Amino acid sequence: MTSERDERPKILIVDDTRENIDLLMEVFRDEFRVAAATNAERALKLARSGSPPDIILLDILMPEMDGYELCAALKRDETTKRIPVVFVTAVSEVMDSTRGFAAGAVDYITKPFHPPMVKARVKLHLDLKSKYELLESYAFIDALTEVNNRRRFDQVLEAELSRAHRSRRSLSLVYMDVDQFKQYNDAMGHGAGDDCLRRLASALSTALNRSGDFIARYGGEEFMVLLPYTDRDQAWSIATHLNQVIDDLAIPHPASSVATHVTLSLGVVTLDPDSRLDSREIVAAADKALYAAKAAGRNRIVRGELS
Ligand code: GH3
Ligand code: MG
Ligand code: MG
Repeated sequence: MTSERDERPKILIVDDTRENIDLLMEVFRDEFRVAAATNAERALKLARSGSPPDIILLDILMPEMDGYELCAALKRDETTKRIPVVFVTAVSEVMDSTRGFAAGAVDYITKPFHPPMVKARVKLHLDLKSKYELLESYAFIDALTEVNNRRRFDQVLEAELSRAHRSRRSLSLVYMDVDQFKQYNDAMGHGAGDDCLRRLASALSTALNRSGDFIARYGGEEFMVLLPYTDRDQAWSIATHLNQVIDDLAIPHPASSVATHVTLSLGVVTLDPDSRLDSREIVAAADKALYAAKAAGRNRIVRGELS
């Protein structure tokens, strides 16, 4: 045994017949990490776990929730919808391929298997997925600061909201806006303004050291930080830390009426596990708190309440 992390792709095989699972396991065991589920409920649980599969092989005929329904459920869920699903079906079964593709499957494999072909098809879909993710990652990065952009924020917020509801854990959001940044640009020039935003983004990213914490540039001189599994007190202390980190940078801002250096105003909100608020309502509450921080004199943190 080695303690090195297993980097092989992870495949989830879902089939109500144990022999079918064993057959496919035999095909993939050497080059993949293989997980198996004999019903839809267990499959959903594995797919939504902290280490989800890279691809799912799915039997169509299963009791209770069948393959079509399971596939549709996976595709509806923000946290699992990007996992490619390949249907596995016997040629003898009347195959309704239109229905499968409509449910969101990327391919069909028919039994009896020809192992090299099954493996090649799975590898093809993994390859397409990683190329797609690479392209997608470029679309989600802010060109100036190289942190996530607003588009990505919107996506991650939806995913974290459903995760928070499901796991019944709180979720916090910190909305930050640079104080009197127009004056900074006017006094120092637009190029210095750009440099300042880059330094702020880099310092804020570095300051977030927990794995699920997420930062995005939300607007011109606005940043959003999303803190999963974070209650009110923890959120307040993280916001305080972020504010301190920017204070410590001490970027001179001679035109500021608030301080001699660049400062932030911050709005913090925490979503309780029972809350059913949607993403728009949460962002609006954080925005309101941020506005209150501005109105109260800037360079401060205000907690917003979610109704
Ligand atoms: P407040 O304290 O109320 O937030 O005042 P403010 O001046 O920061 O806010 P306002 O919304 O009036 O102005 C934001 C400024 O941020 C204006 C805009 O030129 C500047 N800004 C937005 N995006 C960029 C950018 O990418 N680069 C630079 N250099 N400036 C930017
Ligand atoms: Mg602004
Ligand atoms: Mg501002």
